[in-house]
Amino acid sequence: MTFVITEPCIGVKDASCVEVCPVRCIASTDEEEMYHIDAGTCINCTYCEPVCPVNAIFDEYKMPSDQREFLRRNREFFKNNP
Ligand code: SF4
Ligand code: SF4
Repeated sequence: MTFVITEPCIGVKDASCVEVCPVRCIASTDEEEMYHIDAGTCINCTYCEPVCPVNAIFDEYKMPSDQREFLRRNREFFKNNP
């Protein structure tokens, strides 16, 4: 299981979630339009979920069905930025 960052983060990118993540598995780059969660490192602590001002963060099993492509997008980011 992992947490996933979804569409509302696009353009907001305020990094509130990054500050609370105990395993530092939330990352982005200057070119990226949003942050992503590394599924291989996320320990499902839930800390990031409530601090997001735009409710972009979900448990992968509770995410809105129209946001499922972001599971892939989060994964791709870490594949391209190891
Ligand atoms: S659930 Fe916890 S470990 Fe996973 S991204 Fe959020 S703060 Fe980090
Ligand atoms: S707290 Fe929400 S809006 Fe801010 S960077 Fe994290 S996911 Fe994006």
